[in-house]
Amino acid sequence: MSLWPLGVFASIDAGMGVHLNVAHALAVPTIQLHAPHASSRTPERATTFMAQLAAYGMKLTVVFGGFEGESYADIPTVKRTVGLVPPETRAARVQEMKEIADFARLLGVDAVGLHLGFVPHDASDPVYGQVVEVARDLCNHCRSQQQRVHLETGQETADTLLTFLADTGCDNLFVNFDPANMILYGSGDPIEALRKVGRYVRSVHCKDAKWAVRPGEEWGAETPLGQGDVNVERFLRTLREIGYDGPLTIEREIPQDPERQKQEIGAGLRLLTELKLKIL
Ligand code: MG
Repeated sequence: MSLWPLGVFASIDAGMGVHLNVAHALAVPTIQLHAPHASSRTPERATTFMAQLAAYGMKLTVVFGGFEGESYADIPTVKRTVGLVPPETRAARVQEMKEIADFARLLGVDAVGLHLGFVPHDASDPVYGQVVEVARDLCNHCRSQQQRVHLETGQETADTLLTFLADTGCDNLFVNFDPANMILYGSGDPIEALRKVGRYVRSVHCKDAKWAVRPGEEWGAETPLGQGDVNVERFLRTLREIGYDGPLTIEREIPQDPERQKQEIGAGLRLLTELKLKIL
């Protein structure tokens, strides 16, 4: 596959991604997929889906897990509900994430991604050690079927993420770098963060956002690609610097409105195409 193939974040029946026919209309060569609901994660569905991808000439690069009960309403709600951090749902969600990895394997995909949730910044917090353990458990499961685990960035600073990655000791744990999340959550300058975690980056979300007035306390605002504070050219130049050669996957978290998705994501794809010509 060529350097920096374009892609979009897609979904079948769960999550905020574009539908497959929108991805096809946008003529992208790659997608990431939000894992479908459990009832759709069957061998039969996997076969049908793979045939559809083949017909569209699309390669599926990462399957992302998400869980019932997660809410991104505001930052405190994210802390309480998202990922493998909340203790009440942790065991069930790790089990589900393993099942999602198994479904990804049926699709021939060697990477799964997820938001781990708000990992405590203080490593002496007992929850920190528990989340390290749970990440190891998931990574061991995925390693046994030659898969990587990509952690979505944004809910912690680059330094916390680096410490966490090192503390797990997992050789198949990597990063899905989302520059807009760093801004949305107020977790630090995305370009500096990308340089710090660069050696772990195995996939990216091309997403843009504007800083909040009080970063970290309230949300920033997601924008169409190129209209926020990420500076997409600088983002791509930094990806070049760190030697990243994987897909550029546009993620645009807007409601299921195929026309708006085609228009906004189409403009984002044109921007990435121009920048690729300029940079590569
Ligand atoms: Mg993202």
